[in-house]
Amino acid sequence: METAKKYQFWFCTGSQDLYGDECLSHVAEHSQIIVKALNQSGVLPCEVVWKPTLITNELIRKTLNEANADEHCAGVITWMHTFSPAKSWILGLQEFRKPLLHLHTQFNREIPYDTIDMDFMNENQAAHGDREYGHIVTRMNIERKVIMGFWDDREVQERIAGWMRTAIGIMESSHIRVCRIADNMRNVAVTEGDKVEAQIKFGWEIDAYPVNEIAEYVDQVSQGDIDALVEEYYSRYQIHLEGRDPEEFRRHVAVQAGIEIGFEKFLEEKNYQAIVTHFGDLGSLKQLPGLAIQRLMEKGYGFGGEGDWKTAAMVRLMKIMTAGVKDARGTSFMEDYTYNLVPGKEGILEAHMLEVCPTIADGPISIKCQPLSMGNREDPARLVFTSKEGHGIAASLIDLGNRFRLIINDVNCKKVEKPMPKLPVATNFWVPEPNLQVGAESWIYAGGAHHTAFSYDLTSEQMCDWAAAMGIESIVIDKNTTIHQLRNELRWNSVYYR
Ligand code: MN
Repeated sequence: METAKKYQFWFCTGSQDLYGDECLSHVAEHSQIIVKALNQSGVLPCEVVWKPTLITNELIRKTLNEANADEHCAGVITWMHTFSPAKSWILGLQEFRKPLLHLHTQFNREIPYDTIDMDFMNENQAAHGDREYGHIVTRMNIERKVIMGFWDDREVQERIAGWMRTAIGIMESSHIRVCRIADNMRNVAVTEGDKVEAQIKFGWEIDAYPVNEIAEYVDQVSQGDIDALVEEYYSRYQIHLEGRDPEEFRRHVAVQAGIEIGFEKFLEEKNYQAIVTHFGDLGSLKQLPGLAIQRLMEKGYGFGGEGDWKTAAMVRLMKIMTAGVKDARGTSFMEDYTYNLVPGKEGILEAHMLEVCPTIADGPISIKCQPLSMGNREDPARLVFTSKEGHGIAASLIDLGNRFRLIINDVNCKKVEKPMPKLPVATNFWVPEPNLQVGAESWIYAGGAHHTAFSYDLTSEQMCDWAAAMGIESIVIDKNTTIHQLRNELRWNSVYYR
C-alpha cells in the first residue's frame, strides 16, 4: 500500500534590495549552491526546490500561497541570507498553512579574516537577518522548526531530514482513515476518546463497521488465493507445530490467510489505512486476526487492539513518517505486559495477544498456533519472534476529557536473558529512560496507556514537533527526566492547555 507521496520542500531565501543587484545575484547564487548540496547529500528523504529570492511583500505572499496550493509541496524552508525586513513577511505568513522550517545557517563557514570588509558584512548577515525574521514568526505565534548550523554539515542535514519526515506526518495526518470493526473493549478507559475532536485536531476519519461486513469479504476469498498465500507463509516463516497435526495446523494458518486477503480488500476498497479489532466481537470470523493483522501492519497499516483507534492511527502515522527510511528497523503496535524487577536487569516485557508487527523482528520469524485465553474462537495462528536491540520511542496518545496529550518515552531495547519457549507471542523487551523506576512513574503520572505506538526509526523530537503542529500537548520522558520536573511540567501544561 501507499505509505507516502512523493513530496518536495521549497527553499525560500529572504533578502531586500538595499544592497543592490550585485549583492542579490550573490544571494541567489549562494542559495542555489546550498539547495544543490542538500539534494546531493543523499541524506534528505525528499527533493528541495529552489525558489527565487524573496524581497517584497507581494512576492513573499504570492510564493507562500503557491506553496499552499502545490499538492507536492510538504513545507517551506526559509533562510534570511541578508537582512529581510520582517514586516514584509506578515501577510504571507498569515496565509501560509504548511510546515515551516527556519534554517538558520550562513553561506560561509569561517569568517574571512584577511579580506572581510563592510560589503562582505552586508552580504552575509544571516546572524542578523534570521533574528529579524525569527522575531516576527514568534510574535505571530506561528508554529515552526528552527535548525541552526552550517548547511553542509551532515548533522544539520540529518536534522533537516528528520524535520521533513515530521512535515510529511503533518501533511499526511489528515489522510488517515481508521476502520473500526468493533467498539472499544467494555469498561476500558484509556482506549476511549473523542473521535470528533480527533478529526478536528488531527484530520483522522474514524468509522465503525459491523464485524460481519468485513467477515463477508473474508468468506468470499477464493481457495486458490488462500492456498497461494499459505504457500508464501510456509516458505517465508518457520513452522512450529509444537505437537499439533501438520494438516490441522495448516488449516488454522489458512484461516489467517483468508483474513489477510479479505481484510486488505475491504480496507483498499473503502480507503482505510488503519484498523482496530476486538477479541470479544468477532462475528463470523473463525479466529482473532493475528498473523493476518501482523502482515497488514508490515504492509504499512496502522493497528490497535481492543478497539484502540487512537493507537491504530498513531501506528499508521509513524509508519508514514518512517516510510523509505534507509535500513529502517521497524514500527509496531505494542503493549506493556510484565516487568523484570531484578536489580541491574530491570525492564518491561512488551507484547500483545498476537498483533506485533514483524518489521521490528530480529532473526527468524516462526508461525505458532496456540489457544487464546480470551474469546471463544479457534486457536489463532500468529507470527512469533523477538525484536531488535537498540534505541526506540514508545508513544501514547491519550484523551484527557477536554484535550489530547501525547506521551513519548525514549526506550532502549534489549534481548531477554533466556529464551521463553512457552510464550507463543512476539515480544520486545525495553528499559525506559532514564530508568525503569523513573520512566514508569513518569508514564503513570502523565496518564500514559498500556498500548503504545513504537518505532526504532523516529525520535521524541520529531513526535513533539508533530504534536506542536497539531496544537496538542506533548510530554517527553527521556534521560533528563526527573519526577519533580515532570510533575511541575504537567501542572503548568494543565494551565496552558486548558
Ligand atoms: Mn491490548
